Amino acid sequence: MIPRLKPTIGIKELVAALHPTRRDDVERFEQDFAMLMGQKYALAFPYGRTGMMLLFEALGLKEKEIICPAYTCVVVPHSVVYSGNTPVFVDCKQGDFNMDLGKAEKAITDKTGAIIATSLFGYPVDLDKLDVLQKKYPRIMIIQDCAHSFAAEWKGRPVQKAGVAAIFGLNISKMLTSIFGGMITTDNGELYSKLRRLRDKTLHPADWKKGLRRLAYLISVFPALWEPIYGIINYLERYGLIDYFIQYYDESKIDMPVDYLQQITALETRVGRVNITLYKKIIENRKAAAKHYFSYFNDKPEFILPQQVPGATYSHFVVQVKDRNSWLKEGIRKGIQLGWLIEYSIPEMKAYGSHDPVKFPVAGKYSKSTINLPVWGGEKLATRITRQLDND
Ligand SMILES: *Cc1c(COP(=O)(O)O)cnc(C)c1O
Repeated sequence: MIPRLKPTIGIKELVAALHPTRRDDVERFEQDFAMLMGQKYALAFPYGRTGMMLLFEALGLKEKEIICPAYTCVVVPHSVVYSGNTPVFVDCKQGDFNMDLGKAEKAITDKTGAIIATSLFGYPVDLDKLDVLQKKYPRIMIIQDCAHSFAAEWKGRPVQKAGVAAIFGLNISKMLTSIFGGMITTDNGELYSKLRRLRDKTLHPADWKKGLRRLAYLISVFPALWEPIYGIINYLERYGLIDYFIQYYDESKIDMPVDYLQQITALETRVGRVNITLYKKIIENRKAAAKHYFSYFNDKPEFILPQQVPGATYSHFVVQVKDRNSWLKEGIRKGIQLGWLIEYSIPEMKAYGSHDPVKFPVAGKYSKSTINLPVWGGEKLATRITRQLDND
């Protein structure tokens, strides 16, 4: 079974994890990450959502409305709520999965404090339109959610730099990983100092028990991603016998992981530093896989392709189909695990008051009709996958 996800990690990451801890492990990871993103500062957190929540506080956002996409990871509005603010959802634009910035403007009120500009699935958010919005509403802060958009560029401009700060997720399913973890980057020295102080005051230090849990998790990932084993895991997952890689969320609850206020472990940051050395290759692989898929699906009308946007980096290669379940089954039959990431429209979730789905038609449609194809193995794997799809 070809897994839908496979983190680009190997023996070097494992060795780094086992290294003795240095006092400056976290700072070294932050410096490398800031350099990678071309930003002055980076701050590490146990999860992206923890960083986001504290970022709102550092920016002085309290009891404000924060505009965010209806179609994004559910941890985003959770962070908004945990920081004492209210999420205001905006539907997607047809074609590239991102929030419709025209509709975002219409959602602005006196209480709006920030806009979360997300580059979903690696598709860069339209920075020209965002610039216009920022000029018109200078008091509103723009925060880039780059959890899917490592290296993504809008007309040559890196998306992470186009706002007060950018957030990144680094769990094992992301393009770059430190096992778990998240980062905030910024060029603003004052914001950096403030957020750093806030983080050091709010988070408990990681202890050896957390280190051990992370190490156990990392070790368990290796055999689990070996194709024959993966087939068995997939089978057990499908029949609800285990929940190995599936991230569960509760439709009706707004919550955080139990250790969301315990700092990232040094072990994770060492894994992250090694993983950074593979960054270029990781991005190249995804772009090459996407290129192959674009040409393969081009003449297959049962798949609706997204637009091809220069500067996209494809954290996921996503297509729309009429009957998702039958394609997921068909994939399994042909030895390919197709993904179904973001299978919800947040305003339709119970936890967020089940807004009228008619108001979020595009997000609703994406949540029910998208599948994604494995991109981690570059053109070579993509070619194998399309060949397997062609076979009966
Ligand atoms: C993964 C992700 C985050 C951060 O998630 P954490 O699990 O908290 O690190 C934020 N936004 C989006 C769109 C994501 O996919």
